[in-house]
Amino acid sequence: IVDVTTLRSWLIRFAGDVEEHAAELTELDSAIGDADHGSNLARGMKAVVSVLADDSTPPSIGPMLKQSGMALVSTVGGASGPLYGTFFLRMATAAGECDALGPDSLAAAFRAGLEGVVARGKASAGDKTMLDALIPAVDAFEAALGEGKPFGDAIRAAADAAEAGRDATTGLLARKGRASYLGERSVGHQDPGATSTALLFRAAATTMI
Ligand code: ADP
Ligand code: MG
Ligand code: MG
Repeated sequence: IVDVTTLRSWLIRFAGDVEEHAAELTELDSAIGDADHGSNLARGMKAVVSVLADDSTPPSIGPMLKQSGMALVSTVGGASGPLYGTFFLRMATAAGECDALGPDSLAAAFRAGLEGVVARGKASAGDKTMLDALIPAVDAFEAALGEGKPFGDAIRAAADAAEAGRDATTGLLARKGRASYLGERSVGHQDPGATSTALLFRAAATTMI
């Protein structure tokens, strides 16, 4: 069971990890984009942390995720703001007003978030985007739960799958986002968005157990 406090810790942990890895994320984006992914996401997650610190933030999962998603959308100009924002907004809708999510409800919320990112960005698996970490993570989480694995094992499997997906983006040719402008020259570089998404699931595996 993942309660409001745990979800809040997840988002705060992710914000800290993004801050810590901001230079690395920007460095990756400098190779195949416009060198702002670290600063974009750090700014957005800082806004999320302020929302979470605000006493008026609803102590219910859906509304809390909704305010977080809205903070990202409104503070990040780049592609990643609306995409991560949509992920949390769709998770919010799937979760609804509740105090806690069981493993299957969390999986459904992740799945809804993923579908939101696809709807918003129109990218597919293998296009060298954050989806190449997100899709394997959500698939692995569902598969592990389906096999009857304990929650902790399932969320760690999701984080492992996100990291493997992140690593595999290096060999891919970018077909969406700024990196796609480089064509063949995008091959050989790890995708910044897939790298931050791997941080998101590692933060989940660290905080949700
Ligand atoms: P921008 O490209 O606008 O500067 P960022 O640098 O913050 O935005 O984010 C870039 C990341 O966004 C990419 O590394 C990629 O993972 C992700 N991305 C870009 N376009 C899409 C898309 N259409 N669908 C999913 N992810 C995308
Ligand atoms: Mg960029
Ligand atoms: Mg940019």
